[in-house]
Amino acid sequence: MSKILNTYNRKKISFTKGKGSYLYASNGKKYLDFCAGIAVCSLGHANDYLIRSINKQSKKLWHVSNVFTIPEQEKLAKRLTQKTFADYVSFQNSGAEATEAAIKFARRYFYSKGQPRKNRVLCINNSFHGRTIAAIFASNSKKATEGFGPKVDGFDHFNFGDHKSLEKAITKRTAAIMVETILGEGGIKVIPDVCLKGLRKLCNKKKILLILDEVQCGVGRSGKFFAFEDAKIKPDIVPIAKGIGGGFPIGAVLVNKKVASGMKPGTHGSTFGGNPLAMSAGNAVMDVMFKKGFLKNVSKNGKYFIYQLNKIKSKYPRIIKEVRGKGLLIGLCLHVNQANFIQKLLDNNLLTVRAAENVVRLLPPLNVKKNEINKALEIIEKVCKTYK
Ligand SMILES: *Cc1c(COP(=O)(O)O)cnc(C)c1O
Repeated sequence: MSKILNTYNRKKISFTKGKGSYLYASNGKKYLDFCAGIAVCSLGHANDYLIRSINKQSKKLWHVSNVFTIPEQEKLAKRLTQKTFADYVSFQNSGAEATEAAIKFARRYFYSKGQPRKNRVLCINNSFHGRTIAAIFASNSKKATEGFGPKVDGFDHFNFGDHKSLEKAITKRTAAIMVETILGEGGIKVIPDVCLKGLRKLCNKKKILLILDEVQCGVGRSGKFFAFEDAKIKPDIVPIAKGIGGGFPIGAVLVNKKVASGMKPGTHGSTFGGNPLAMSAGNAVMDVMFKKGFLKNVSKNGKYFIYQLNKIKSKYPRIIKEVRGKGLLIGLCLHVNQANFIQKLLDNNLLTVRAAENVVRLLPPLNVKKNEINKALEIIEKVCKTYK
């Protein structure tokens, strides 16, 4: 019997190795992995370049404290700022830590401006910002918060798409609005570009900060390095994690100068955050992702995948209700039972993962090949056919 605390509804299947978009199971079968560790394995499994980079670093230096200068960390931070809106980066180890740090930085900014009561963060109901005690109450889903009271104060909420309740929820005490640019766990719900622009304007008008949680949709997943880029806006704070380490746990928060001004030595820290081994993974992922054409290809493959999925949808309108997403962050909103559908895909050697609103997420590695997408499409159509 398993000695692992029972917090996951685990499938029996386990894997012995991976290569590219494929995972090899202990049952001898080979699976097409369109779960990718939930948008983590951005370069697929056992990527040669990542392996070399980590191997090389592992022979030199794994860990030193952040009380010392870490050149590999300086390098990744420099690249993240050169490529994005950000002026500074703070490294963590996971998405939840990054979103929590984002909340801290927002509060601290207003504190440093002599407005310590301006400390509330406005979030979307049933979103997902991680599983730590503050993050679950920021996310505000029943599933994540039930039994974990007392409720952590400091968060207000509005419903996805409800512009009126959003404006009404902003008070003198609001420090920031924090939303996922594309809601992942919440069901692959894309915030339209006009709404992102509107959010930026609203934050400017109310003199509050805009935090865009790109832990899932960021780092190339949307076809751009950040999902908000198409809206041509600049957020103030952006937590990232999942894809940046390509499978090595890394979290980071990107901030602009303004937000950075609120922080000083001693105000935040992390023992493991940004250690040399982690940074070798992060830097390698950046090397690949900023090669010419890489992100364009993600976008192109995403468009192709979504177009073909919509074709399947129109053939099976009583099974697939809606195809959602952007880039290679794709959700199939189903009429039929989600767990059943995922099991049938698995029985046909395609790995996927659930999201809220009866959605099946398709999250292939970002370097997935077109013939692998075609294979997945075949399997999805085959599974649709099994329903009468
Ligand atoms: C996964 C996720 C998190 C939490 O990341 P962990 O690494 O699991 O702590 C936070 N925000 C979003 C949008 C996520 O998808």
